[in-house]
Amino acid sequence: MTLRKLVDGLFVDTDGTNGGNHGAIVLEDEVVMIDSGMIHPKSLETKEFLTKKTGLPILKLVFTHSHGDHVFGAQAFEPVSLIASAPMRQRCEDNLKGDWKIETLRNSYAPMKEERPELWEAIQDLSIRLPDTIFKTYLFLGNNEEISVKLLGGHTAGSSTIISHPHNAIFVGDLIFSGKFPYGGDPTCDPDRWIMALEEILALGLETIIPGHGPVCGLDELEIYIQALMDLRANVEDATTADMTISEFIEEGMIPKDIAEGAERFADRTLKHWFQFYG
Ligand SMILES: [Zn+2]
Repeated sequence: MTLRKLVDGLFVDTDGTNGGNHGAIVLEDEVVMIDSGMIHPKSLETKEFLTKKTGLPILKLVFTHSHGDHVFGAQAFEPVSLIASAPMRQRCEDNLKGDWKIETLRNSYAPMKEERPELWEAIQDLSIRLPDTIFKTYLFLGNNEEISVKLLGGHTAGSSTIISHPHNAIFVGDLIFSGKFPYGGDPTCDPDRWIMALEEILALGLETIIPGHGPVCGLDELEIYIQALMDLRANVEDATTADMTISEFIEEGMIPKDIAEGAERFADRTLKHWFQFYG
């Protein structure tokens, strides 16, 4: 378990060993979990650590979006109320009919058996839990509305942010891959909305930003990230006008340098979607 205390009442796990970043906000009488991690036995250690450390139950788990690396750990937190936006829940339902069928999952994770044995093990008795509490645009949690959840879309149609007001902190899910090239290949990914969402987050002026991947960051890093995504978008628009291929785009160095790290992992899938989006 690699969960750590960021400040009093705010815990985060950003090292990537249990899928996407996740964390917890401690309220006066309960703990609210943000995303679940991916490997449920590891998530169970997180749950046990938090309940012991705080002496409080984890009654709610809020999902930032529908990707497996943020959702597959959910069974570890039961009994718990699973909260998500309506389009997030919709994506989960669609996934269950395709990519998330257990045989499909076993096939797609089998090549990682040697490299990531804990993940492979967890997939064997994975039981995917769907959100049971759905919100449309906003949701407030806590006796004094300490937490606000908001649907912004962009990275996926259901992408939402979670603000902990007493901590001046925001969980943004995969709207930010801190300092890295993002995965933006979800069929519901809307790059224009994504950039607008980031501008809205920037305007909030919050002190602490917990991204979906990579280290905790602040407004300076967010500004750089927005500029990089805007440059990427402009380059994709130019490339589609000029009928370039994705390989030419990469070879020509059209990936902005501030998000060049990790491009070998996600550039193909992200650009495929963005080329279609603007093409
Ligand atoms: Zn992720």
